Amino acid sequence: MSAHEEQSQVDLTAEDKATRDGGFPEQEQQPPGLTTDMTPVPDHGEESWTGRDRLPGMRALITGGDSGIGRAVALAFAREGCDVALSYLPEEQSDADDVASWVEKAGRRCILLPGDLRDEETARRVVDDAASQLGGLDILVNNAGFQWARREAGIESVTTEMMDRVFTTNLYGLFWVTQQALKHLGRGASIINVSSIQAYDPSASLIDYASTKAAINNLTVNLAAELGPRGIRVNCVAPGPIWTPLQPATRNPDTIPGFGEDTPLGRPGQPAELAGAFVFLASPQEASYVSGTVLGVTGGRAVF
Ligand code: NAD
Ligand code: MG
Repeated sequence: MSAHEEQSQVDLTAEDKATRDGGFPEQEQQPPGLTTDMTPVPDHGEESWTGRDRLPGMRALITGGDSGIGRAVALAFAREGCDVALSYLPEEQSDADDVASWVEKAGRRCILLPGDLRDEETARRVVDDAASQLGGLDILVNNAGFQWARREAGIESVTTEMMDRVFTTNLYGLFWVTQQALKHLGRGASIINVSSIQAYDPSASLIDYASTKAAINNLTVNLAAELGPRGIRVNCVAPGPIWTPLQPATRNPDTIPGFGEDTPLGRPGQPAELAGAFVFLASPQEASYVSGTVLGVTGGRAVF
């Protein structure tokens, strides 16, 4: 068999290709949005991620782990030997239950912790519950986030209500969760934040959201300097346009068909395509000297 013929065996099926290529139908949900109501349903690596024991016996808290990028991270972490705790909003219970069944199929534990991270007491309780039920904490993935793009572009259309929701979710929640996690994280642990291409190349319709993502990049570097002496690494992943419930739940429906086509790869990414970056950054062996960095997974858009 020629190399080309061998290669063709791993080509995507027509169905996979349709899922990946974008050009999705117009659709609309209300926040936070549910995976099962999306057309097509995203690929979180359910059929494709092969674990190689890269996170053996570790314990991770993934905020927003019920869907999208967080779900793909939970699946991959579990297959790499890691127990996980997921935080999510109470109305996302059905999504969280689906993730739990995949994690358990991988032979790992999945702790489900519903709660709104905009509330300080809840944010701190979620972390303590994760640590007590997992028997400790080695990895924190600060992935929960919110945007609102269903409005005119520009600063004057930003309402205080939405500004509050964006800043409180993306920054206050992240600060509270991280502060509380530091009571549990020891040497060899790591924190992975989630920023965005919006930190580098902001859209006028996401002016508030983009500013929180730039702040998260800045905080990543600052925190890496602070926590390095404690043996804790801090990194960040900056996704490009990824097909997750956040999109139909927060964008104008007529922007969905062209979503992600403005990348050099010409399509949106699937959540599964983010998991490798998180597994690498979490791995104490592979990323032992990697801290204070932002890893772009953007379909080719620049992150500098
Ligand atoms: P998603 O909607 O699947 O995940 C976001 C999760 O955040 C939700 O599932 C929800 O559980 C959680 N969340 C939101 N508000 C919360 C609150 N108040 N309390 C607790 N949890 C809350 O969408 P996603 O795209 O996978 O988003 C994950 C992260 O990726 C976010 O930080 C987002 O900003 C970032 N991101 C996404 C894209 C993209 O194109 N999808 C691009 C760049 C960055
Ligand atoms: Mg969700």
